[in-house]
Amino acid sequence: MKNLLNLTIHELHELLITRKISSQELTSAYLERIREVEPKVGAYITVTEELAMQQAKNADGKLARKEAVTALTGIPLGIKDVLCTKGTKTTCASKILENFIPPYDATVVSRLADAGAVFLGKLNMDEFAMGSSTENSAFHVTKNPWNLSCVPGGSSGGSAASVAARECVASIGTDTGGSIRQPASHCGVVGLKPTYGRVSRFGLIAFASSLDQIGPMTRDVKDCAIMLKAIAGHDQRDSTSVNKEAPDYEAYLNQDLKGIRIGLPKEYFIEGLSADVEKCVKNTTEKLERLGCNTVEISLPHTEYAVATYYIVATSEAASNLSRFDGVKYGFRAEDFSNLLDMYKKTRSHGFGNEVKRRIMLGTYALSSGYYDAFYKKASQMRTLMKQDFSNAFEKCDVILTPVAPTAAFEFGEKASDPLQMYLSDIFTIATNLAGIPGISVPCGFDSRGLPVGAQLMAGHFEETKLLNVSYQLEKELQLSGRFAEI
Ligand code: GLN
Repeated sequence: MKNLLNLTIHELHELLITRKISSQELTSAYLERIREVEPKVGAYITVTEELAMQQAKNADGKLARKEAVTALTGIPLGIKDVLCTKGTKTTCASKILENFIPPYDATVVSRLADAGAVFLGKLNMDEFAMGSSTENSAFHVTKNPWNLSCVPGGSSGGSAASVAARECVASIGTDTGGSIRQPASHCGVVGLKPTYGRVSRFGLIAFASSLDQIGPMTRDVKDCAIMLKAIAGHDQRDSTSVNKEAPDYEAYLNQDLKGIRIGLPKEYFIEGLSADVEKCVKNTTEKLERLGCNTVEISLPHTEYAVATYYIVATSEAASNLSRFDGVKYGFRAEDFSNLLDMYKKTRSHGFGNEVKRRIMLGTYALSSGYYDAFYKKASQMRTLMKQDFSNAFEKCDVILTPVAPTAAFEFGEKASDPLQMYLSDIFTIATNLAGIPGISVPCGFDSRGLPVGAQLMAGHFEETKLLNVSYQLEKELQLSGRFAEI
């Protein structure tokens, strides 16, 4: 038998249902692995060993009785620490929520638990999901398992690194402007941001509510389809979740690609794109052509405004969402204050990190009276034009192919001192969120330093089936799955 830690959800499922392995055995192997590599990687904020072993025991009971077994029964997963977990600390990698224990589960968490999954713990991230490198965690950095002097990407850096370092089989991340796809690309795993409204955000601590989505980070595309099926679907507790049944994504993975039109937006192949990444994406294009796809050049003319638009919309919504953290009902409260206002001020100045404070200030400014028309309203109008760009593009093509990020993973400190440089590196992922369409990062090669590079595929609203089908066959053609970071 291959090393248990190298197997995918679907491979492990076969072993579990035939009772060749038990979930307790599998979960113990993962906990052991976490003990071994966490000192080097730092993917977790909290490891829930006891809970995991209990869930594994329950899963084994179900497997033995063949009762309510799903594709995820007994499978050890990791959850980004921005999703509420009843009874388990949920920090958002922030000092302000350092000791916060939610009284309820996020819908995604309860769906996975109901499916029989095992939770190994809560994964590190940029504070409140603001960042692209996981350097903004209030607790510690997460290192890229492929090269420990490089960042894993962000904000779901822990979710990506844990899958790459084999510290969980798959994980859950969130994506507001690229936070699933970019770390997936940097860590050589698959990461999907579903259509806005596809997955319930109930229990997700909000960053920018009109952009946030929850999605899977996995070893291969089939696992991604399995995880999406488990978490997608309507939820009365999230009014933005769409009442539309989630298809069986796995069943659509072998559709013929002949004649599928792949759009290459000319605005995404620009100066600043590293030669290595360009080469990998070009190779991906050739592979898709070999599979019978036709490539067409398309234009997304408002791409140059994406970063500016995103950083106004996201910071404005963040400023308003984060006003709830005031030290009154839960979370951190500063000591030594003289009155209520002083308590608010001290709590928020000491509780939030620099990047979060920067965004609260930017967002508050953009929303303030006299500036609203010039900033938030303008950004919303630009957003409509960008959505229109995608609708026009999808008349000429079925799926869009682009790089995920201009470079592979960068080194610690390389961009941390220059927020603008960090923001600019989000250029290829944020338009997807502004338009609400789904996007996936699939490993497509390595740069000259041996670091993984992902290709991004995007499709129209609720076309995850198409996206996953193309990705699945591309993955087979590229033959990169099964390659692991050696750590
Ligand atoms: N890097 C982007 C930001 O800093 C995206 C973050 C995210 O998707 N959560 O806002």
